[in-house]
Amino acid sequence: MAGFKLGIVRLGRAAGKTKYSLLDERDIPLVENYAFEAQVEVDKDGNGAKVFAFCWEIEKGRALGNFVHNILWERHCGGIAPGYKVVHKNGVTVDNRLENLTLVAQTKPLKIQEGTKTDSRENNLYWIAIQQLPPDPIDEHFPEMSQSKVYNANGEEMEEEEEGTIYYECHYPPCTLIEEEMHQFSICGRCQQARYCGTRCQQKDWPAHKKRCRERRKNSAEDDSPVDR
Ligand SMILES: [Zn+2]
Ligand SMILES: [Zn+2]
Repeated sequence: MAGFKLGIVRLGRAAGKTKYSLLDERDIPLVENYAFEAQVEVDKDGNGAKVFAFCWEIEKGRALGNFVHNILWERHCGGIAPGYKVVHKNGVTVDNRLENLTLVAQTKPLKIQEGTKTDSRENNLYWIAIQQLPPDPIDEHFPEMSQSKVYNANGEEMEEEEEGTIYYECHYPPCTLIEEEMHQFSICGRCQQARYCGTRCQQKDWPAHKKRCRERRKNSAEDDSPVDR
């Protein structure tokens, strides 16, 4: 990673995991005045969901916030013409480096060149950057805080999402693949909570996940009280 610097902003929980956004070095000072969070946007046509970085000026409040990619585009490239939108070239919707942003007509679906195949995914900067991070301290020490429990109509335990959506992103931190339909991804058989796009990500995540993967037993709500105390 020599030769260039990158900002990694923690966005918080979305789609079942902790999300981060990448920023160019020159945009890092944003974190002094802006609050950041992850927002899940469900595709109205039923094509799954996307996780975006959202931010707002702390002084002005959340109601005046915007997506980070819109704010950065306006800051560096001027306005966004009516009928156009800012999209992420590599398909990683939290990779908000300016070189990854482009303006397209709103009606035109973006063709994603990278990010769909495992090999190119592992070469993308988000993957590389997120792998360098230490485990999220909330995940690590307070797993019960990062998971609220809800049950679906079949009595199956599910994680609750703020927006009421239940599309999951692959639990392996650097992977940004997200379900295109609900229950598409396979679930960790032991804890029944972590979801993965495939066995490869599950295997790579296991050294980190096993520390907080607790076997789920039926009617075990009381057993979920804090561990190691
Ligand atoms: Zn597990
Ligand atoms: Zn994955």
